[in-house]
Amino acid sequence: MKKLFVEETVNKIGKEVELYGWVDSKRDHKKIIFIDLRDRSGIVQIVGDEKFKDLTSEDVVWIRGLVKKRPENLVNPKIKTGKIEIEAKEVKILNKTKPLPLPVNTDGYEINEEVRLKYRYLDLRRPRLYKNLALRSKYIDLIRQFFLKKDFLEIETPILSETTPEGARDFIVPSRLQPGNFYALPQSPQQYKQLLMIAGVERYFQIARCFRDEDPRADRAYGEFTQLDLEMSFVEREDVMKITEDMIVEVYEKLQIPLQKKPFPVFSYKEAIVKFGADKFDLRTEEEKKTNIQAFAWVVDFPFFEKTGEGGWTFTHNPFSAPLPQYMKDLLQKKNIANLLTSQYDLVCNGYEVGGGSIRNHTPEGLRAVFEIMGLSRDEIELKFGHMLEALSYGAPPHGGIAPGIDRLLTCIAGEPSLREVIPYPMTSGGRTSVMNAPSPASDKQLKELGIKIAK
Ligand code: ASP
Repeated sequence: MKKLFVEETVNKIGKEVELYGWVDSKRDHKKIIFIDLRDRSGIVQIVGDEKFKDLTSEDVVWIRGLVKKRPENLVNPKIKTGKIEIEAKEVKILNKTKPLPLPVNTDGYEINEEVRLKYRYLDLRRPRLYKNLALRSKYIDLIRQFFLKKDFLEIETPILSETTPEGARDFIVPSRLQPGNFYALPQSPQQYKQLLMIAGVERYFQIARCFRDEDPRADRAYGEFTQLDLEMSFVEREDVMKITEDMIVEVYEKLQIPLQKKPFPVFSYKEAIVKFGADKFDLRTEEEKKTNIQAFAWVVDFPFFEKTGEGGWTFTHNPFSAPLPQYMKDLLQKKNIANLLTSQYDLVCNGYEVGGGSIRNHTPEGLRAVFEIMGLSRDEIELKFGHMLEALSYGAPPHGGIAPGIDRLLTCIAGEPSLREVIPYPMTSGGRTSVMNAPSPASDKQLKELGIKIAK
């Protein structure tokens, strides 16, 4: 097993070391040949002779050599190992590379997205992207630690499931055992997490994958994304907002990422519209935008319903939300609909909506009223949400939750222009997967088993 990362060689002056990695670059001065050896930790300069003759950039090598202090005038302050270099004693090529289809020693922004994603495994060799992967891993670890400390259970919920509406189209998966029937991939774990509250779990979280077939938009990842999904019983709006904020303060402190204001400012939807013209806004000054300060804020008191094009009503955020307590009577009587305010809270950061949640309707009457206002018939309600209405009728505790989007939050922290820079294997904007060739046709045998005919 590899025992030493390149970066650790600075502590090995005078010692012989064995290193594994990639040839990052080669400078051939005939008698002396220098290479920079790269691994995930960084690069180090290695001095060799004709031993290095056959090496080309991106070959995978093993090298044994002596770590030496560089003379003062040759120190390179730009790299962590700039004070040393390694005198090669022996080198083995573990795997020779073909010429790469794209450069990996630039920051990569200049390269066409299709090419980057087709060769994502090479694209990820860029130190910038490795750094983003490492940040993502650390970030999720700190979030986990926070919630486990607070007695939350981390629970997985199904991926093959029934539709759960979050305002997008579903991805559907045909069933072989029941031809003509389909699973839907969850737009969020919303219903399952509420059912966990009815099960008596009281505090749940999950680093959850969600699937939404939305029209591609520059500020969204197409197809799937990751959110910190959480739900708690016996809470009010302010409790969920507080624990979310406490988590962010702790995690960002540990990552040494500055927060603009603590506690986070709270705006009503009306105030936000008057002040910023939108319910997501950037509180940073122009100066602050040059730093990586994170300006969080909350938006509350949203209207529950909005008019549809056909003159009916639909939910603005989440059909499972409860109204603010003072509007519950109106909701149950289905009156004053335009003025009903929901218990929804949205989290905003640096101009983006980075998450939202609400206190839920925990009585079947409340939830039913929402669907009735939306114009669903008794049968439709029963068919789509009968299981929820029934579950809510068996002693459901008051509960609420939230789901901050991990990809967006990381994009803000990393100061990246796009979500794709922090998602390991994002889809192209046209909805094709990185590296692998999906979507792709199913075989005739598969289609037959599923009872599906493709219309020409
Ligand atoms: N289910 C919501 C979403 O995915 C979040 C929540 O209300 O907890 O946006």
